[in-house]
Amino acid sequence: MSDDTAAHFGAWSQEFSAWAQTQDVGRVVIITPEDLLNGRDPTGMSDEARAALLKSFIKRNFPDFDADKFDDEYLSLGRNAVLGQGRAQSLDVDGDGKNDLAIVIAASRDQTKEQAAAKSAHLTPDNIKNLRGTDLDWQAMTIAHEIGHLSQPNKSRDKNLVWEIEAEQDMVQFMTTAHKKGLISDLRAVDDLTLIRNIGSFYFKDDLQTHVVGPGVQTPSEGPVPVAEHDHVFQEPLHQAQMDVSRAIGVDLINDTHRIKVLEKMLGERGLYSFDAYKLPPMEIEDKRAIVDILRGKVSIEDGVAVLPADVQDKIAETFENETEILGIGALMDDPALMYDMTRRLYLSGDFDDNPIGKQYAYEFLTAAQAHAPENFSVFNQDEKFIPPIFKQTDSFTPTDHLDNSQNLTTMKP
Ligand SMILES: [Zn+2]
Repeated sequence: MSDDTAAHFGAWSQEFSAWAQTQDVGRVVIITPEDLLNGRDPTGMSDEARAALLKSFIKRNFPDFDADKFDDEYLSLGRNAVLGQGRAQSLDVDGDGKNDLAIVIAASRDQTKEQAAAKSAHLTPDNIKNLRGTDLDWQAMTIAHEIGHLSQPNKSRDKNLVWEIEAEQDMVQFMTTAHKKGLISDLRAVDDLTLIRNIGSFYFKDDLQTHVVGPGVQTPSEGPVPVAEHDHVFQEPLHQAQMDVSRAIGVDLINDTHRIKVLEKMLGERGLYSFDAYKLPPMEIEDKRAIVDILRGKVSIEDGVAVLPADVQDKIAETFENETEILGIGALMDDPALMYDMTRRLYLSGDFDDNPIGKQYAYEFLTAAQAHAPENFSVFNQDEKFIPPIFKQTDSFTPTDHLDNSQNLTTMKP
């Protein structure tokens, strides 16, 4: 890193190099936005200008780093760099399966912990409360997470979340070491970060669902966590729990007008190119007439559907349920208080109990909302305790190389 950035981080900067070594990367440079900007405002700058700034800065300050190797990446890297959006880009130059060069983009040296947390939670910084640790600790956690990515191959489609969990688990490991060395005084800052990520993910804000790492990461204060080789192991239970909440809201909203609209759509969508979601199974002509009778109000929905073949009834029931969830999602979108309240009610009545990973997401969402964004979610009792699900101890982590790294860490020279 630059002298200015190193001075800003003080003793941490030695620590970052030690962590980078555990990732087995030949050469790593760490960049903060201030390195590039010198007080300039990045908002009006073109991506080309940002890219040029980043590349020339690296060439000037780290002449032994082969900056040309990242020519395909500067356009997007430059953008991340001036805006302080944490990112790790590594490169296996000689194709031996190990990364030789890496650029780590850090957050702004002025970033407060509330700003850092707000990004993960998809809230504004003034909504965020009660974070442990200092602003500098939170900046270091961003760098720690990004360094955790350096040993990883280029991301693949079905393992993005798994790699994120691994990087976050490495972050926990790095910060635990830093705590032993006295660099961070309150290690519970780590819990606050992993917890707060669940606000964004459980509350439908992280559409890509690659940073929904919470339940897969074991912090120093937590017991064993579920282990996964593939993203869907986490994403499906999360989705299921979210849909439980949406359905519980939607059942009070759905009415016959909605149901009639759905039936109209289903009847109209039977063509070759219709969406599967609305596509009815093949039917006899009298079955179609029965549906038309419902649409014309000749019979009630209930009586009309009852005479249809079982597979058609099932499809209609399933589509009504989807519609219920869609209505629920719509109602929840701009109503964090409703999201918190319904999640809490379902949690206490045991609705998530058959879905332990989904329940863990709900648990972390409730706990995070309560501890860190009580006003935003209209939490009325901040001291309420929820009982989390329990996961059994397993031998493996997610994916597998944490144990090796942690052994390296304890013997690493400062
Ligand atoms: Zn990441």
